[in-house]
Amino acid sequence: MHKTLTGSVMLALAIAGACQPAWARSPAASANEAATARHYASLIAGEQPKVAELTLFFTQMPKGGDLHHHYSGSVYAEQYVDFLDKQGLCVNKQTYRIETDKAVIAAERAKPAAERNCLSSAEVYADDHTFRELLQRWSNKDFANHGALQPPPDRLFFQTFGFFGPVSNANFREGLQELKKRAIAENVGYIETMFKLSPFVANADFDQKAWLNVDNNAALEAELRAALGALEQDPAFARSTSDFVARIQEAAEGIDDERFTMRYQTYVLRLLNPSQVFSSMVSGFKAATMNDKIVGVNIVGQESANVSMRDYTLHMKMFRFLKSVYPKVKVAMHAGELAMGDVPPEGLKFHIDQALVVAGAHRIGHGLDLVHESNAPEIMKKMREDDIPVEINLTSNAFINGVEGANHPINLYRKYGVPYVISTDDAGVTRHTLSNEYVLFASRYKPAYAEMKRTSYNSIRYAFLSVAEKQRLTRQLDQRFAAFEARVAALAKTAKPSK
Ligand SMILES: [Zn+2]
Repeated sequence: MHKTLTGSVMLALAIAGACQPAWARSPAASANEAATARHYASLIAGEQPKVAELTLFFTQMPKGGDLHHHYSGSVYAEQYVDFLDKQGLCVNKQTYRIETDKAVIAAERAKPAAERNCLSSAEVYADDHTFRELLQRWSNKDFANHGALQPPPDRLFFQTFGFFGPVSNANFREGLQELKKRAIAENVGYIETMFKLSPFVANADFDQKAWLNVDNNAALEAELRAALGALEQDPAFARSTSDFVARIQEAAEGIDDERFTMRYQTYVLRLLNPSQVFSSMVSGFKAATMNDKIVGVNIVGQESANVSMRDYTLHMKMFRFLKSVYPKVKVAMHAGELAMGDVPPEGLKFHIDQALVVAGAHRIGHGLDLVHESNAPEIMKKMREDDIPVEINLTSNAFINGVEGANHPINLYRKYGVPYVISTDDAGVTRHTLSNEYVLFASRYKPAYAEMKRTSYNSIRYAFLSVAEKQRLTRQLDQRFAAFEARVAALAKTAKPSK
């Protein structure tokens, strides 16, 4: 039987192997690529990779896109300090929390500067002690340094969002513009950001039934269908979803241009109660059908927290149901962001598996607990055969979960042919860049240049974009690599022979 090519097959052909094939390149371009590969090989050779030079190399190398990127965790604390004045807020210099009570703020403003307990942006910057202490609470700055605060790193990480929360849920245009500027400066052409928590409503009756029916698929599905129907009849809920879409559309204005493209995922918070998670998921799925710039739905929040563990399977079944209602909406999922000791051993055995098999995830975020999962070989086979990538976040995994080096499952994914992308997670909180993630990957695991290049292309290949948009960004990446390799080849020629 004659089979017509589907969109995904055509795309696979269009960007097969990702990088431009040798026959499509000029001899000079091929020579530059070979010189770049030799130069890179010299940087990772030996017991001590040349990390400083790798940093220069990867800062300039085109890096396609960043597919695991949280908006609020990517803005640096310094910009959040700037936002205090923009919103007319101040920060308490004892607690480092943002004051939002207008009466307290007015009373503080009326005091002489020396007696003020709540500081403006300029006052924070002028007071070095307060500024440095603030950075230790709003990010992981100085965590490993002498004299720093050292709460458990996962607690420090997740608490930062509470500190800067009052200013991170506003000023979106400024925040996005800064992230765009930073991306262009390190040769990143695309970001797919987890932008906003979609709206939700609570329903105590739904919560009770959901917990009772978690193992009864037919009853659970009937309950989810009834709840969806009720939400669709609720004009206030419809309005909250359309307002949510409008805010994203407004924030996105002026971001895309010929050099840079940004797309947005909505997310649900796995720490909330079932009715809140489900209604948030409904508005997230609906939002993704209402606006082309909203390209997927994710689930976030500390996975080892009690509620996240208790409701994990229930959440996966909610995703399965909504994917049957909205089959075109893409889903990326934090799954298996767990290390030995984070939870009892049985909690490490099924999260990636259920994200794939029950929820139907198109991409897996982190996938750290792979080695503990009961079906690890089948998970890798499915990801390989269904072309489902894992999003690797090395800095985040080392800081939050203490998983790094030989303890990280990235080499299993590579060894068994699972596609992967390199991404940042929360580069503002953990104070790094996408280039830095490439440096860590290259210096720790020493993949060949061809693999590093393919990894960069993978972040376009696995983006939740249309075929046409992927082709445009792939062509852009071809041009950027040609320019980069010409530069590296020229630099390599001027290097003195090593002793
Ligand atoms: Zn994440």
